[in-house]
Amino acid sequence: MNRIKILNKFYLLVITVLSFTSCLKWAARAEKKLPDETALHRTYEYSGKVIVIGAGASGLAAAKVLEKNNIDYTILEATNRYGGRLKKDTTLADFPIDIGAEWLHSAPITLNKLKGKYGDEIDEELIPYHLDCTAIWNGTEYKVNPSWHNNFSYNFMPESKFKNTTWYDFVNENIAKTVLQNIQYNSPVVSIDYTNNQVSVETLNGSNFEADRVLVTVPIGVLKSEKISFIPEINQERKDAIKEVTFHPGFKVVMKFSDKFYPDAIECEVNNGEKGYYDIAFGKETQDNILGFLCAGDETQKYYNLSSNDEIMDSLLYELDQIFDGKASSSYSGEYILENWGQYEFTLGTWTQAFQEKKSNLKILNESLDNKVYFAGEINDPYKQMGVPGAILSGYYSTDKLLTDQ
Ligand SMILES: Cc1cc2nc3c(=O)[nH]c(=O)nc-3n(C[C@H](O)[C@H](O)[C@H](O)COP(=O)(O)OP(=O)(O)OC[C@H]3O[C@@H](n4cnc5c(N)ncnc54)[C@H](O)[C@@H]3O)c2cc1C
Repeated sequence: MNRIKILNKFYLLVITVLSFTSCLKWAARAEKKLPDETALHRTYEYSGKVIVIGAGASGLAAAKVLEKNNIDYTILEATNRYGGRLKKDTTLADFPIDIGAEWLHSAPITLNKLKGKYGDEIDEELIPYHLDCTAIWNGTEYKVNPSWHNNFSYNFMPESKFKNTTWYDFVNENIAKTVLQNIQYNSPVVSIDYTNNQVSVETLNGSNFEADRVLVTVPIGVLKSEKISFIPEINQERKDAIKEVTFHPGFKVVMKFSDKFYPDAIECEVNNGEKGYYDIAFGKETQDNILGFLCAGDETQKYYNLSSNDEIMDSLLYELDQIFDGKASSSYSGEYILENWGQYEFTLGTWTQAFQEKKSNLKILNESLDNKVYFAGEINDPYKQMGVPGAILSGYYSTDKLLTDQ
């Protein structure tokens, strides 16, 4: 064994020990940052009118607080559905599949915080995402990871998935249910004028809405695209902060096979972003073989250059055939779902990772415009969670500010 190999082994050992002693545990740190209580536990006396822009997890969470306190509010949603980057399919398999967010990256107790439930005992049945068999593919070589690698990954970030349900259902059941009557669909907001005491919000079809305070929960991709004009214009500092946040383009594919020829997960090596295949049915009680594919970042362009979703599928099958000696095309059922979040007009990206962004930018993005226009959404989460929990908690946090700022 040469010196470099010995050194590599030594570094691995150090990292593994650190991980098991919890020094490096992302999830443990995230759990400590969860708030004891949220706006769901408080009561508010607010007599003004509120407009919430966007009916994703964050906007729905904000609305839940407004509803609970009998506050006059309307949710303006650009599309004809609620949920935003949460969506589920029940047609492809004998279990419901999340087409958007899928994993709970944080500790299970987070689910209680999102619902406003006290205590550690959760109601949901979860699958610990502790994989047995994973591999790496660099385009020419396929390598199965040793089991310590899988243990290390799980110990560092003990994620989980819903056993019989989805993120979409969780939000639907615990957050959205009581606020649906106040959503106005097909209402893309194009301008927010906060010059006067009353904020004036205009939608694409020319309708105008007035409110005392407005909560903007659109994805950072929509703010980057400048499809919403702010009057007066937002300052340069905020424009720069919006520009600097990383929001990769990307898409998710769900495909069905007659055989399970693949391991639990295959990470594909890419330069900037993420790409990988994974067994969506991992831990589920199912007869179906459902493989997922996620791509976000620079690699996405390669697929966007193809002329149709069918061509993207051909390219994925070609790659899988290369790895598994043609087993992909021979067992492919021809059924797939491709959700192109990066090119949807009202998303324009995949996910943000607030903990990787500059603190000063996050602070700017969370400031209100003259105590009249407030912001919430996954990037506005002050508790440094990720994804859906971050989006929901930011909805509660910013609504608390909106209702209490003098
Ligand atoms: C493929 C994929 C996989 C993911 N995986 C995970 C995961 O495993 N775990 C996890 O926790 N998170 C995951 N995420 C991230 C997670 O989905 C988001 O963090 C969360 O759903 C964001 O919620 P939000 O309310 O902030 O934004 P959104 O859900 O994007 O909601 C914003 C809403 O605003 C609406 N809107 C946009 N523009 C306008 C306008 N001009 N006027 C009116 N309405 C407008 C949109 O239509 C949308 O309904 C994933 C995301 C993607 C795309």
